[in-house]
Amino acid sequence: MKRKLIAGNWKMNGSAAANEALVRELTGGMAGAACTVAVCVPAPYLAQVGALRAGSPLELGAQDVSEHAEGAFTGEVSAAMLREFGVRYVIVGHSERRQYHHETDAVVADKTKAALAAGITPIVCVGETLAQREAGRTVDIVKRQMAAVIHTNGHCISEIVVAYEPVWAIGTGRTATPEQAQEVHAVLRTQLKAASEHADRIRLLYGGSMNAANAADLLAQPDIDGGLVGGASLKAADFLRIIAAAR
Ligand code: PEP
Repeated sequence: MKRKLIAGNWKMNGSAAANEALVRELTGGMAGAACTVAVCVPAPYLAQVGALRAGSPLELGAQDVSEHAEGAFTGEVSAAMLREFGVRYVIVGHSERRQYHHETDAVVADKTKAALAAGITPIVCVGETLAQREAGRTVDIVKRQMAAVIHTNGHCISEIVVAYEPVWAIGTGRTATPEQAQEVHAVLRTQLKAASEHADRIRLLYGGSMNAANAADLLAQPDIDGGLVGGASLKAADFLRIIAAAR
């Protein structure tokens, strides 16, 4: 059985003081965790959180990466730069980046490639909007998003993590039922298996209002190998309860 991954997405939240308190509580409370745990923090805090987590099993993650290696791309951060700060995971193609920064499937695929080339595990997000779900297009949408990443990354695809994040469930308090999530995860697993003989080792995370109360049921599904957690990752007690549910 795969070791589950619970990744916190802090989004654009935090301060030096708040980060210190949160990371100290997390590292103090996660001894004996049966899963891998990471926090994906805003870029300016990578060095701080990297130092705070030193010597603990808490892994460091980032929230975005440039598809370019270097050069005249003001405001961008390269995968090699993230690597220098000890980053092990990077979220790629979060729906907020697709929506507010107009990231296309092709850009997401290139960012995935850039992360892999630097030895960072991309957490590739896919998911449908409410309108797309209601139009019966969920499977088409997530398969299209995944296909672009598979096409660009070829045999390296087994090195990625995928997060199924229905857009209508992110930050809304409205969670996909375990059955709804499992259904999409099974589709993604089948698609990945057709692309790689090693697809069984790819961790498929669920994300979208995962919390201390619903985590265990979601994580009990056969194709749910962890969670990408937004709001609940900002409260140590809640995040620790999700971590405890992942075994
Ligand atoms: C996310 O932003 O990836 C997320 C899942 O957020 P939330 O848990 O707050 O819905």
